[in-house]
Amino acid sequence: MEFDAIVIGGGLAGTATAYYLAKAGVGTLLLERGDLNTQASGSNAGSLHAQIAYEPFSLQGDEWAREFAPVIRLLKESIEIWRGLPQELGADLEVSLQGGLIVARTAAEMRMLERKAALERSVGLEVELLSRADLLARAPYLAESIIGGTFCAIEGKANPLRAAPAFAAAAERLGARIERRAEVVGISRRERGGFHGARPRPRRRRGLHRQGWSGRRGRWWTRQPGRCAAAAAGSGYERPVGGRDAG
Ligand SMILES: Cc1cc2nc3c(=O)[nH]c(=O)nc-3n(C[C@H](O)[C@H](O)[C@H](O)COP(=O)(O)OP(=O)(O)OC[C@H]3O[C@@H](n4cnc5c(N)ncnc54)[C@H](O)[C@@H]3O)c2cc1C
Repeated sequence: MEFDAIVIGGGLAGTATAYYLAKAGVGTLLLERGDLNTQASGSNAGSLHAQIAYEPFSLQGDEWAREFAPVIRLLKESIEIWRGLPQELGADLEVSLQGGLIVARTAAEMRMLERKAALERSVGLEVELLSRADLLARAPYLAESIIGGTFCAIEGKANPLRAAPAFAAAAERLGARIERRAEVVGISRRERGGFHGARPRPRRRRGLHRQGWSGRRGRWWTRQPGRCAAAAAGSGYERPVGGRDAG
C-alpha cells in the first residue's frame, strides 16, 4: 500500500486531519494505538466556545488575554465549520448553537468579565453583558448568588462521542485507511527518506508480528523487532517518540 501522509492518533485532531487530507485527494493512513475516540476527544463536555475561558483570564491576566485574542477568530470560524459538519459528514453530531453564558458571583468577577468582553469585541466577537435580571430572563435556573454575566450567541455544544467517529467514517469513505491497535513508537530520519514503524497486532500469527506499508514519499514498515522509527523523507529530522517493544 502507498500513502502520501500518515496521521498519528485517532482522536478529533487525527480523524479530522485524515478527513480533510482525504478530501483534498491525499493518500492517507491513520494509525491509532488503541481504538478511535477513546481518549480526550471522546471524554469532554462537548462545548463549542468562542469566549475566552474565565479561568485562564483570571489567573493569567489581561496581557495573556491580548496575546490569546487572535485565536478568537479561529474559534469563531471553527463554530461555523461545526454548524455545517453534520451535513458535510452525513452524521447527526447533535450540534446545538444556542449561545453560551459565563457568570459572575462578585463585583470583582463582573469587572473582569467586562474587561474580557471588551477585548473579545475588539477582535469581532459579539458578547453581551447581562445584568442579573437579564440573566434570569434567559436562565431562570441560575443560583441566587449570580450577579451578572456575559452571553455569546454563537456558542453551543456537540456530542463528543460522535464527532471523531463521524470524521473517521467520512475519511474512510473518501479512501483513507484507518488502522487501530497500531502504535507509532519512533520517528527518525533515514538517509534516503522514509518511515519506519511498528504495528502491534492484537493476535499474533506465527512469523507475522508486524506489518508494513510503504509510501511514495516515505515508508512505513518494521525490520527491527521492538525498535521502530519513522522519517519524513530527506527532512534531516530525528525524534524518538517512544521505545517500547511493539511485539
Ligand atoms: C465536541 C467537542 C467539543 C470540545 N470542546 C472543547 C472545549 O470547549 N474546550 C477545550 O479546551 N477542548 C474542547 N474539546 C477538545 C477536547 O477536550 C480535546 O482537547 C481534544 O479533542 C483532543 O484531541 P486530540 O485528537 O488531540 O487528542 P485525543 O482525543 O487524546 O487523541 C489522541 C489519540 O492519539 C493516540 N495516540 C497517542 N500516541 C500515539 C502513538 N504513538 N501511536 C498511535 N496513536 C497514538 C491516542 O491513543 C489517542 O486516541 C472538544 C472536543 C470535542 C470533540
